[in-house]
Amino acid sequence: MKNEEAVIDNQRVRVQFPPRNPQGKYIVYWMQQAQRADYNPALDYAICLAQQSNLPLVVLFVFTTVPDAVMRHYLFMMEGLWELAQGFKQKKIEFYCLTGDPPQVLSEVARHALELVTDMGYLDYQRKWRRVLQEKLRETDTGYTEVETEALIPVEIVSPKEEFSAATIRKKITRQMDMITLSANKGTYTVVKQSEIKLQVPFCQPTKQSWSEFCAWVFESLNLGICLEASSCYKGGRSQALKHLQTILNERIKLYATQRNEPSLNIQSNLSPYLHFGQIAAMEIIQHLSEAGGFNMLQLSQMIEQKKANDDFIQNYAAFAEELIVRRELSFNFCHYNSNYDNFNCLPNWAKQTLLNHLNDKRETQYSLDRSLQCATDDPYWNAAQKEMMETGKMHNYMRMYWGKRLLAWFDSPEEAYQVLLYLNNTYELDGRDPNAYAGVAWCFGKHDRPWQNRPIYGSVRYMNAAGLNRKFNMPAYIKKQGL
Ligand SMILES: Cc1cc2nc3c(=O)[nH]c(=O)nc-3n(C[C@H](O)[C@H](O)[C@H](O)COP(=O)(O)OP(=O)(O)OC[C@H]3O[C@@H](n4cnc5c(N)ncnc54)[C@H](O)[C@@H]3O)c2cc1C
Repeated sequence: MKNEEAVIDNQRVRVQFPPRNPQGKYIVYWMQQAQRADYNPALDYAICLAQQSNLPLVVLFVFTTVPDAVMRHYLFMMEGLWELAQGFKQKKIEFYCLTGDPPQVLSEVARHALELVTDMGYLDYQRKWRRVLQEKLRETDTGYTEVETEALIPVEIVSPKEEFSAATIRKKITRQMDMITLSANKGTYTVVKQSEIKLQVPFCQPTKQSWSEFCAWVFESLNLGICLEASSCYKGGRSQALKHLQTILNERIKLYATQRNEPSLNIQSNLSPYLHFGQIAAMEIIQHLSEAGGFNMLQLSQMIEQKKANDDFIQNYAAFAEELIVRRELSFNFCHYNSNYDNFNCLPNWAKQTLLNHLNDKRETQYSLDRSLQCATDDPYWNAAQKEMMETGKMHNYMRMYWGKRLLAWFDSPEEAYQVLLYLNNTYELDGRDPNAYAGVAWCFGKHDRPWQNRPIYGSVRYMNAAGLNRKFNMPAYIKKQGL
């Protein structure tokens, strides 16, 4: 599909049925996962459709409760939506926030629409929303289109099956990387026809309210459970994401390969919360990365494959691209093809078996969830990592691995440790509840890894201990940084 500014790669269009009622009065874009105007192929598609059918476009976001999401997540997301709404106003795009069960409320609004376009979600509840919505839209003869916005290359194009590890998916990705930039539009739209439709459901327009009115409207509509404070370090929104992007490109990238893992330093990009809420697209990050490094997609794919090359420049860019492209796409592959992505049964047989073989091994000690939450275990590194996560909403990547694996030594069964880890990660990390969250937790228990030397409790699942941290990193500096 084409207009003057946007070219949508048709391979990104995932599910589609055409409208059967040509009398539809507008196009609806349901913004769910991709909460951005830029580098958003689904929004581009909706705009093209509105232009081609000469109909107005209405962009909708639905606030609802989702598993494990707490106040911290909502605030971060709302900061992003608030900024986005101001941008839409300038572009004369109508943007409404609704509340309720998404399929229910959307099908009511879309009843008189020609077509509803939406983005892509990989978790069970997101897929269910889209499934139920489709059923309802069929009843009203409204068309439906789903466009891939999150994976850089649509998962089914990368591979028709669940991949075993990064090693098995890497080549499948690198040989198709030219797809990444095909629909990398910068969101320079022409104004679409205005509708001024009268919504028959409760709504708010962030541009017509103060920030505190917007917050009051959202919080009154939702019952949020744990009242966790906002992150002390991260504020939501595209402008913030772009600042983090500039910092990694201008300063940190030159140390990324060698220093990224040092927990006492901050050499990572810190982009994961923004990626998780769709406030920035991985596509955009890669485009900036390739401009900063002066290479094209073909060269980047070669760099990823030769990342052990004896060249600092290649090593740094390739290491970052490995994480953002290969590891992240592996997580999408995992959640797409493994229906048990959120529980112990997702593990490969060797990992399940070895952990269950050691079920009766004596645990090192046992802690209640409360004691863990108070950062009061006997492991100072674990406590420091937990504190970092609880206060800032983002734990250092290397510490996540150590922190996750320690739970195996403290809980009676690996299944219990698995669920506690998911709970902690998804409740406290700003980037939690992401495909990367599920893949990261599963990795601690052997997913996407291979068997290692056999030992108590862990069996042949890779083991990490404090001595390893001490040997490799400046752990006193990390502890001090967390104020312990
Ligand atoms: C137990 C455990 C839990 C995790 N939970 C999450 C989570 O909830 N959400 C989350 O996004 N990531 C999670 N990860 C993966 C990884 O730790 C984070 O993606 C990374 O720390 C995010 O910080 P950053 O953006 O500064 O990373 P950078 O190092 O700057 O990397 C850039 C981007 O690459 C991707 N990336 C980096 N590392 C990984 C990885 N190991 N796997 C997949 N993609 C990666 C992310 O999108 C990240 O934003 C988890 C890992 C483990 C071991």
